[in-house]
Amino acid sequence: MPQTLSVIKAGVGGFVGRSGTHPEVIEAAREALALAVQSGLLTDAQAHACGDDLFLVMAHGHGEDHEGVHRTAWETFEACTEVARRLHLYGAGQDVLTDAFAGSVRGTGIGSAELVLTERPSEPVVVFMADKTAVGAFNLPLVRTFADPFTTPGLVMAEPLHQGFAFEVHDLKHHRKVMFTTPEETYDLLAFVGATSQYAVKRIVSRATGEVAAVASTDRVADLAGRYAGNDDPTAIVRCHGAFPTVGEVLEPYTLPQLVVGGLRASHHGPWMPVGQEGAGTSRSDGPPRVVALGFQLAEGRLVGPRDLFADAAFEGARRQANEVADYLRRHGPFEPHRLPLEEMEHSTVPSVAARMASRWSDL
Ligand code: MG
Repeated sequence: MPQTLSVIKAGVGGFVGRSGTHPEVIEAAREALALAVQSGLLTDAQAHACGDDLFLVMAHGHGEDHEGVHRTAWETFEACTEVARRLHLYGAGQDVLTDAFAGSVRGTGIGSAELVLTERPSEPVVVFMADKTAVGAFNLPLVRTFADPFTTPGLVMAEPLHQGFAFEVHDLKHHRKVMFTTPEETYDLLAFVGATSQYAVKRIVSRATGEVAAVASTDRVADLAGRYAGNDDPTAIVRCHGAFPTVGEVLEPYTLPQLVVGGLRASHHGPWMPVGQEGAGTSRSDGPPRVVALGFQLAEGRLVGPRDLFADAAFEGARRQANEVADYLRRHGPFEPHRLPLEEMEHSTVPSVAARMASRWSDL
């Protein structure tokens, strides 16, 4: 029977400020998920935090976009929001933008990545959790893992990978999608997904087996709120080994702390730092942006794990470099390229300042 792995995430309230998640919030999520497992709706589930965001990792047999699974996530976030309100946590309930559940979390500002798979005798998967960054942040690491043979030698030397992968790319501005096949369309793919503010890799499919290899959340909070509403803080799920890249090939791109949108007031660029769960709180300038990688073995719908993959000392170099880049960028204060370009500041105070100053300008 096909299994589904659903990772659904929201910011339900930060502790302290936007820097982290209170243990009672995570505990409330675990209790709510345990009931859904007991009821038989889910085969297994775990709740984890990255910075001020809560990620529900749920295994079940119901496929994508299942109303009961999404309702469980919704009600879990509601229960957690109650805890957040009781503790006066920061921005309690900020991502729960509509009042009533309407059959799916999609289109509500809550992020989701769902992957249907037929479990292999050994099924290693990695769940990525991001904080203080935006949809599109996974473009670079996913392209490097699935289309760059210098990152993934398996593309050269492993038969199923050698046939390449198909990338489903979403245009976030015009709400449309397109497929690219690699290796032959790699340059076309890069022409789009290098522009992370508009294009996001949604799904990657093995051309050898037709199976989905990876999926990322592409839900943008600001589009729905039409105002400043924090970062998207996306998630991604990647299957490993066999017809897919190895765990090592999946993690390797994160040795580069790439510059991403996020951090301070969701209006700046910052280096994306790979961290273990213990290091996922952001104290300095609401950053730098973070990413945590949780490794699981699926066993007949059970989540065996996680292993905290970025806790590995091999990522210390990336963390050191991220801190150096943060030092350098932070000194630019309110100047680009630390600050985002003007067209991405539409949800900040910049448009109202511009409106106030409009009559003061005169032609040259
Ligand atoms: Mg966050």
